[in-house]
Amino acid sequence: RIVYLNGRYLEEHRAQVSVFDRGFLFADAVYEVTAVLNSKLIDFAGHFARLQRSCTELGLTLPVSEQQLRDIHQELLIRNQLHEGGIYLQLTRGSAGDRDFCAPADLSPTLLLFTQARPLKDAPQASAGIHVVSLPDIRWHRRDIKTVQLLAPCLAKELAHARGADDAWLVEDGFVTEGSSSNAYIVTADGTVVTRPLSNDILHGITRQALMQLAADGGIKVEERAFTIAEALAAKEAFISSATTVVWPVVSIDGQTIGDGKPGPVSLRLRQRYLQLAEQSTQG
Ligand code: PMP
Repeated sequence: RIVYLNGRYLEEHRAQVSVFDRGFLFADAVYEVTAVLNSKLIDFAGHFARLQRSCTELGLTLPVSEQQLRDIHQELLIRNQLHEGGIYLQLTRGSAGDRDFCAPADLSPTLLLFTQARPLKDAPQASAGIHVVSLPDIRWHRRDIKTVQLLAPCLAKELAHARGADDAWLVEDGFVTEGSSSNAYIVTADGTVVTRPLSNDILHGITRQALMQLAADGGIKVEERAFTIAEALAAKEAFISSATTVVWPVVSIDGQTIGDGKPGPVSLRLRQRYLQLAEQSTQG
């Protein structure tokens, strides 16, 4: 696999980052994942806008323009012949050549990108649905910034797998915040899609933003409010969204079936519409 590191395209085993890189020592870094379908980027502009926002919040400076970054994504997917999957981007504050909590102002950031081939359109989870468990949300209070400090979601996913589930829904003060690496939704008895409003409590999903628009365009009512696990258990449908899953129906929570235990029509409709538009678009 060819990866991009600080201006160069390298075989993955040749790409090296300093052991003093602040991304490694302090998780002082942000990331993005842009999905690829039919060798095209999906919603690159949205991911770039969020990357810029994450950088601004942390006082990081992006070393490349939007067009340059788009070109790097394109070049990387061509070099790796990526048809379907995602492109991972990480930007760290760089290395000061030692470990110090306070970073000097003049560091050169580290920019890394690599491709990941995986099924997006025909992922088995999309047709079978996934099983989730609820876990306490132990993350920090700026979940709106897409940082690489992902230990809490790693542990949540591990715990979910240990309990025989696919993923976790995180709960804070009695309400679902989001999935361990996705936004969370339910569909109520009257067909309304309910999802938590944007705040510092959740990541502002790019897929979420697109789905909100698709729902509005398709006459599906959306309510942005927090919901409990009890409400989710009584819902007709539940689902998650993210760039790498698009929409995956949730068919059980904590071992209890949602609706009839099968992926629901609203979840599948939103998924199909999103993929259809992604395939029709000429630019990410
Ligand atoms: N919430 C969290 C915690 C995530 O990690 C992700 C995926 N990165 C999302 C939501 C979904 O965001 P997006 O649709 O932009 O992939």
